[in-house]
Amino acid sequence: MTHVEALQRTLASGQAALITSPAARHWLSGFFADDGAILLTRDRAVYLLDSRYIEAGEKAVKTLPCALLTRLFENVAAFLGEQVADTLLIEAEQTTVAAESRLKTALTDVATVLADGRLDAAIEQNRRVKTAEELQNLRAAQALTDDGFSYIVEHLSLGRTERDVALDLETYLRKNGSEGVSFDFIVASGENGSCPHAVPSDRPLQKGDLVTFDFGAVVGGMHADMTRTVALGMVSDKQKEIYDVVLSAQRAALACVKAGARCADVDKAARDVIAAAGYGDCFGHGTGHGVGFEIHEAPNLSPRAGDKTLEIGNVVTVEPGIYLPGVGGVRIEDMALVTENGHENLTKSKKSLLIL
Ligand code: ZN
Ligand code: ZN
Repeated sequence: MTHVEALQRTLASGQAALITSPAARHWLSGFFADDGAILLTRDRAVYLLDSRYIEAGEKAVKTLPCALLTRLFENVAAFLGEQVADTLLIEAEQTTVAAESRLKTALTDVATVLADGRLDAAIEQNRRVKTAEELQNLRAAQALTDDGFSYIVEHLSLGRTERDVALDLETYLRKNGSEGVSFDFIVASGENGSCPHAVPSDRPLQKGDLVTFDFGAVVGGMHADMTRTVALGMVSDKQKEIYDVVLSAQRAALACVKAGARCADVDKAARDVIAAAGYGDCFGHGTGHGVGFEIHEAPNLSPRAGDKTLEIGNVVTVEPGIYLPGVGGVRIEDMALVTENGHENLTKSKKSLLIL
């Protein structure tokens, strides 16, 4: 069953769905376009693409027919009329208030526009479970990301700036097949490492630094995500201590990743190790997140995950960290594919502390 068919099954007769967010359109069609709109009912599907994308789309999209998008609201009204649909579900999380208002006004005589989260939930639930093709692309993206890590640790030298190293890493990945970058790469050295999402700066790498790399390649639209922290030249007792705590926490959380596990319990496994070592206040973010057509997607491994559980085919990151303002930080992140009895770690780079 294609993703289009899976989503169609969630619709009742008389209902249509309008999908405009780029990641969801990419997921449904296998084709990336900045702009466009997918319309579905139980029985019909069409991908509306404007003149910039229609030619490429007609060649690339295999899961539903394409048609020329001329004037969105008129195209949507015509589709609803042909399909006798009087309710239009839209993506609540992805639609701006302005766009929702314009759509409601334009369709006032045609259909009831509903942004009640139903469509988002159906997309999220289906996107969580990766297909064989998506997994193949994710494995390729992570293999390239692991290569990138091997490359960059061989090319680190004292005096190079974080910004220079980040650019070098990005260039390496793009030259070797990455379609882009999963997100703006993080290279955080020394005291900058205490900010989990530090932006690479002009700070030169120095002996005694811990350096955190958080980065990923993109293959077939699938985003890889990994983090490693390395030491330059030497390591202090404190640095070694926090590295060991983060590594233990990461392994404890990974050990909990399996089908049926509560997402909050995976998070707690990491958090408990860090708290027991006395660093509970130094780990503010969630333990992990789903990855796929977006760098952050469902499911989240967080204390606020409620009763959500992992299922076979989910791919999640596991990335606890410790951040000490004024001192630095450590984070270790792998991507894990959830299997029936456990998980397969898609990240192959070693996790023992590298002292370069
Ligand atoms: Zn990351
Ligand atoms: Zn991540």
